[in-house]
Amino acid sequence: MENLKFCEHCGNKINNDAVICPKCGYQVEELKTTKPNNNPQIIINNSNTNTNTVNAAGPSKKCDKWIALILCIFFGCLGVHKFYEGKAGLGILYILTFGLFGIGILIDIIIILCKPNPYYV
Ligand SMILES: [Zn+2]
Repeated sequence: MENLKFCEHCGNKINNDAVICPKCGYQVEELKTTKPNNNPQIIINNSNTNTNTVNAAGPSKKCDKWIALILCIFFGCLGVHKFYEGKAGLGILYILTFGLFGIGILIDIIIILCKPNPYYV
């Protein structure tokens, strides 16, 4: 009769497998799951969260400083240097406004001169 234990509440010998003491009715063991979950639900969350940071930040374009400078000086009113940098929207704006009335060209010349060679946009 080794299959016995003492109830911690009333002290009576009870079955070792007993969860509730039959003498006093107190719970002596933590309730065990009678049906163990042998079929765990494996949720494979395979959603693609791999965001392409290169495209998100915009593709960087390698530009030659001196080519951009020459384009800006000679064709700045047509926004050619903006097209060269891949900024077509600004290029069109430069065409319509003659290089932001010349101011944009002057600013761009200074900006391009301050850039390293090559520079990336
Ligand atoms: Zn008991």
